[in-house]
Amino acid sequence: MKTIISHKTPVSRCPHCGAEYLPGELYMPGSLIGQPDEVIRDSFGKIIYEDYNSADREPCMEEHFICEYCEKPFIIEATVTYRAKEEAPEKDFTTAYVSLLD
Ligand SMILES: [Zn+2]
Repeated sequence: MKTIISHKTPVSRCPHCGAEYLPGELYMPGSLIGQPDEVIRDSFGKIIYEDYNSADREPCMEEHFICEYCEKPFIIEATVTYRAKEEAPEKDFTTAYVSLLD
């Protein structure tokens, strides 16, 4: 009998033997998104300068890995997408409703 497991996170497979890995096994979360030491924005919020004090703080989207099953090397390349959405406007019940009558 086969048990089918549904994964919450995307699975990467070794290109040689098909062994499966979860992103958390291949990447240190911090190394994937990086940790900037300095970010400077202009008055409109556009980033004009970013600095990482050391190479291990820079985002690293490519990871070299050796398969634990077939012991062959392979490269994992991450694609990270962030979407910014508008927050739904919440009704504010803390201020009294005012209706103007004239
Ligand atoms: Zn393998």
